[in-house]
Amino acid sequence: MTLTKDKIKEDFINKTTSLFAQDVSECSNSYKYLALASLVKDYAAQNWLKTNKQYAETSEKQVYYFSMEFLIGRLLQSNLINLGIRDLCEEALKELNINLRELEETEVDAGLGNGGLGRLAACFLDSMASLELPGHGNGIRYNYGLFEQKIVNGYQVEIPDNWLKDGNIWETRKDDKSVIVKFYGTVKTIEKKGRLNFELQDYEAVRAVPYDTPIIGYNNKTVNTLRLWSSEPVHSDFDLYEFSKGDYVKAQEYKADIQAISQVLYPDDSTEKGKLLRLKQQYFFVCAGIHSIIKRFKKSGHSIFDLDKHVQIHINDTHPSVAVAELMRILIDEEELNWDDAFRITVNTLAYTNHTILSEALEKWPIDLFKNLLPRIYMIIEEINRRFCEDIRRKFPNDEEKVRRMSIINDGVIKMAYLAIVGSHSINGVAKLHTDILKHRELKDFYDMYTLRFNNKTNGITHRRWLLQANPELSSLITDTIGEDWIKNPKELSKLRKFSTDTELKNRIEKIKFNNKLLLARYVKDKYDILIDPNSIFDIQVKRLHAYKRQVLNILHIMYLYNTIKENPNLDLTPRTFFFGAKASPSYHLAKETIKLINTVATLINNDPVVSKKIKVIFLENYRVSLAEKVIPCADVSEQISTTTFEASGTGNMKFMMNGAITLATLDGANVEIYDAVGTDNMVLFGMDVHEVTQYLNFGGYSSRRIYNEDNRLRKVLDQLIDGSLNVSPYEFENLRNSLLDMNDEYFVLKDFNSYVKAQEKIDLLYRDHKKWLEMCIINIAESGIFSSDNTIKEYAIDIWNTNPVRIK
Ligand SMILES: *Cc1c(COP(=O)(O)O)cnc(C)c1O
Repeated sequence: MTLTKDKIKEDFINKTTSLFAQDVSECSNSYKYLALASLVKDYAAQNWLKTNKQYAETSEKQVYYFSMEFLIGRLLQSNLINLGIRDLCEEALKELNINLRELEETEVDAGLGNGGLGRLAACFLDSMASLELPGHGNGIRYNYGLFEQKIVNGYQVEIPDNWLKDGNIWETRKDDKSVIVKFYGTVKTIEKKGRLNFELQDYEAVRAVPYDTPIIGYNNKTVNTLRLWSSEPVHSDFDLYEFSKGDYVKAQEYKADIQAISQVLYPDDSTEKGKLLRLKQQYFFVCAGIHSIIKRFKKSGHSIFDLDKHVQIHINDTHPSVAVAELMRILIDEEELNWDDAFRITVNTLAYTNHTILSEALEKWPIDLFKNLLPRIYMIIEEINRRFCEDIRRKFPNDEEKVRRMSIINDGVIKMAYLAIVGSHSINGVAKLHTDILKHRELKDFYDMYTLRFNNKTNGITHRRWLLQANPELSSLITDTIGEDWIKNPKELSKLRKFSTDTELKNRIEKIKFNNKLLLARYVKDKYDILIDPNSIFDIQVKRLHAYKRQVLNILHIMYLYNTIKENPNLDLTPRTFFFGAKASPSYHLAKETIKLINTVATLINNDPVVSKKIKVIFLENYRVSLAEKVIPCADVSEQISTTTFEASGTGNMKFMMNGAITLATLDGANVEIYDAVGTDNMVLFGMDVHEVTQYLNFGGYSSRRIYNEDNRLRKVLDQLIDGSLNVSPYEFENLRNSLLDMNDEYFVLKDFNSYVKAQEKIDLLYRDHKKWLEMCIINIAESGIFSSDNTIKEYAIDIWNTNPVRIK
C-alpha cells in the first residue's frame, strides 16, 4: 500500500462519515482526532495481521515483557512517525483546514505507570518493534491510570484519571481470548496413574479479558502487541443475580469486587499498601499472561520441553515475580512434568530486572495473606525454597546464618525479589553503578551463589519519541548536519562531535533552543499567567517527588538565592527560571509538603519586584509523558541531584542530555555513564561520591545538626521554614524541617548543600561564555546515542533472551 496525500484526505473524509455521520467541517477536534487515529489503526492493521501470522509460523523466540506499568503517553504522533506518514498527513489535513498538531494535542495520555519504570517498559516496546524483534508487552488495563494532579493554593490535589471515558481508539478487545484466573480455594491431592496431582477446588473465578494495542515499528513492517488484561465476573449479570439468590446488592458487590482488580493503578511503585488487592493484581495479569502464552505455544506444535527455546518472559521488577511459581504450576499440574524438568524450563524461560535498592520497595508478602489467596502457588514457593535452601547448604556447608539470610520465606514473609532471582536465568541491574551495588552489597549472597546470572543493562530511552518527535527542529538540524543515518542507528549521533566548534551549527542550535523556550514561556503565560524570560537559564527538575531525588536541595538553594538577592539587589547573576514538575504519592506526606514549599517559595519570589527580575520559580502541574515532551527540549540545565547510590539509573537524565541540556548531577545511576561519555568539561558534578555515602550508611558519623550550626546560609533558610518568613503557618513545613534536623537528614541534603551551591555558581559562569556553552550542548547531543533504548534492547536480545529479529515480508 502506498499512501498519497489525496488518498489520506479521501480516507479521512470517509472515516468521519462512517464514524460520526458528519461532515469534516462539523466535527469537533476530538472527533477529528478519533477519525485520524482510527485511520492510522487501519493503516497498521494489515501489517499487524501479517506480523502475527509470521510469528505463528516462525520458530524464533517470542519475548514477553511482563510489567505492572506501561507509561505510554500519547500514540497518534509516534504512530504517524513510525509509519512514516506524518508529513503526508499534515499536508492532507492542511488542505481540509485542519491543524494536525491540534489533533495530536487532544489525545489523553495513557498514564498506566508512575514514572521511570513504566516509561522504560513503553520505550522498550517501541525499540523491540523498531528492531523487528518479536517482543510483546503484558500488563493490566487499569480503568484509572496515575491520578491527575491539580495545585490548589499550593497543595497537590488528586483527581481520578478517567482516561477511558471517551473510549480508547488504539485497543481491540479480544473476548475469545479470555482466560479464567483462580483465587482462594483449597488444594486437593488426587492420585492419578500413580502420580500425585494437585487441584484447586472451591476457588473464586475471575475472567481476564485481553485488550490488544498494536505497537508499530519504525520504518518497517513489524507490528507487535501490547496485551493488557481487564478483570470481569465469569457470570453474566443475570447469572450473578441467580447465583446470589436474588440478592441484588450482594450480586453488585461481588461484581465490584472483581472489577476492582483492574480498576486503578497504585500511585506508588515502592510501598505495599492495599496489600491484598495489589497481590491480586499481580497474580491476575501474570496468570492470564502465562496462560495465553502457553495456549499460543501449544498451537505451534513444539514440545513443552522446548518451551524455553521459543519463549522468554521478562519480569520488570518484582511485581510479576509470582510468574516463577505460576509457570511451575502449569508445567507440573497441567503439563504433568516432573519437578526437575519443570524447574529447569522455568529458570531458562524467565529473566528478571531489579530496579531499586530502596528497602521499602523490595516486595514482601505476609505468608497468611498469600497462602489464603493463592494456596497452590504458596505450596510451590515452599518447595522451591526447600530445595533452594538445600542448594545453599551444599554450596556453602555449615553456614545456617547464610541460609536464613537468603531464604525466600523467612520472618513470616515471602521475599519476592529472592523468588525472582532463584527462578530466573538472568538478573540485571539498570546502570553500571547500580549493578555493582547489587553484586557487592545488596544481593551479595545471591551473587556469590549465582555469579553468572548477574549482568548489567543500562536503561535507555527511545530517541524516536524523545528527540525525533519531541524536538523536530533539532532533529532536522541534526539530519542537515550529519545525514539521516542517526535515526536508524542513534550511535551515529557521535558524528556531530566534530562539529562541536562549528559556529553555524552553534547559532542554529541556539536559535532552536530559544524557539523551544519561547513555546514553554507561552504555555506558562497561558496556564499560570506568569511571564518568564526565554533569555534566562531554564533550569529544570521534573520527575516523581521523592526524598532521595532531593527536590528539597533544589528549593533550599533557591531560598538561599532569594536571601542573597535580598541582601544585595545588584548581585551579578545570570537570570534564571527554575522549573519543577512532580507528582507525590497521595499518602507520602513529606513529599506533599515539599510541593507546598516549592509553590510557596515560587509565590514569594515571583511577586517580589526585585528578586523576580533575576530568578523565577514555576511549578508545572500534572507532570506526565506529554508534558515531558514539551518541557525537556527547553532545558538548559538538567537537575539530576539524587543522593549518590539511591537512583538506580534514571532515564530523565538521558532525555535531557539528548536534547542538549547540561547535566548538573551527583555521580549516581546512569549519571556516571553520562560522565564517562562527555567528561568533566561537559557536565557539572557535585556532592558526595559512592565511598563517602557508603561510609556514612555503614558506619554512621553524620550529623546534620552540626552542619546547620556551622553554615549560616543553611541556618537561615531552615529557620525561614518556621519563622513566618514564607507567609504561611509556622507548622506548614515543620515535618520537612524535622526530617532534615531531628531525623538527621536521611538523604544528606545539608551535607551536599555547599557543594551544590558551588556547582550552581559554576553553571552561572559557564552560561556566560555562550559559545563554550553551545559547544557543551553539541557534545552532549553527540554522545547521547548510547542511551537509545535500541542499544539497550539489542543487549537484552543478545545477552539475556538469545532472540533474533524476524523480518516481516
Ligand atoms: C522519563 C520519565 C520519568 C523518569 O524520570 P527520572 O528523572 O528518571 O526519575 C518519570 N515520569 C515521566 C513522565 C517520564 O517521562
